[in-house]
Amino acid sequence: MEKILKIGTLAAAAGEKVHGFYQVEGTDLTMPVTLINGRGEGKVLLLTAGVHPDEYPGIAAAIQLSNELQPADICGGVVIVPMTNYSGFLAKKGSHVPADGKNLNRLFPGDPNGTEGDRLADAITKDFHSVCDYNIDLHSGGIDEEMKPLIFFSLMGGKEIEETSRQMALSCSVSYIVRSTATNGEYSSAVLHGLPSLLLERGGNGFWSQEETDADKRDVRAVLKHLGILACEVEPAKIPVEIAVTKYYESDATGCWYPCFRPGERVQKGELLGEIRDHRDQVLSRYYAEYDGVVLYQTSSLSILKNKALVAFGKLG
Ligand SMILES: [Zn+2]
Repeated sequence: MEKILKIGTLAAAAGEKVHGFYQVEGTDLTMPVTLINGRGEGKVLLLTAGVHPDEYPGIAAAIQLSNELQPADICGGVVIVPMTNYSGFLAKKGSHVPADGKNLNRLFPGDPNGTEGDRLADAITKDFHSVCDYNIDLHSGGIDEEMKPLIFFSLMGGKEIEETSRQMALSCSVSYIVRSTATNGEYSSAVLHGLPSLLLERGGNGFWSQEETDADKRDVRAVLKHLGILACEVEPAKIPVEIAVTKYYESDATGCWYPCFRPGERVQKGELLGEIRDHRDQVLSRYYAEYDGVVLYQTSSLSILKNKALVAFGKLG
């Protein structure tokens, strides 16, 4: 686009791609950023990954896209932050911001006077959401979570943003798209600042593969194409099921978790979703399906603590 694409100290003129680092004010935190300013006028999409730094397929996809996307193919711009929680990525000690132990995806829109994670969220809101028109945030299941690829999109930004977000989601090749009313995550906060957005989840358990990475890259390209930002060919998306109601089962005991189904498997009302047993294999708690539905994602570790997530169960029909 004609005008300069600028974030922090980084700037890309029309037809230019710039790689650099962004410094979060008042902290030692930095993160790699790529600005791609296209040749023609158009909108700007923000692609974030690594808000949870141990969710790897999206991080690999964002890194590879920052190399592969070229200004000549773009109308408008693309801003890529492949490792949003970069200090967490380097530390390799879980999914939080190392300096304050906080979950970055619960801190938005952030606080300029808070701890490192609060300031990082504030910086994303003020310097990135403010100059972009759309947002895709790439995630996976956590280190102890398994899931089927799915998309969350927000109902909280009004009808127009919801519908644009839904159409973005329908460009992606996932099994399920899930309505969300959360507000404190990166993408859900972007929605409240006027950006149609989605959160794409693929992979989990701390693994990554080039196959999952390629699937994420295909979906990002498809959304960019749908929005008129990128000229490219993509394979057609499969038609997803839209989930309006999701029940998030939590543990009411500490012990060992034995799920009965895998993500993507359909379950009938009344069937046992899983049970918690103690160290002598005695049943402590059982969890039953409240309706006909599908396991979207679930905890995959044997160890479970009280009041922790067990299963996200989407309603079908
Ligand atoms: Zn995540």
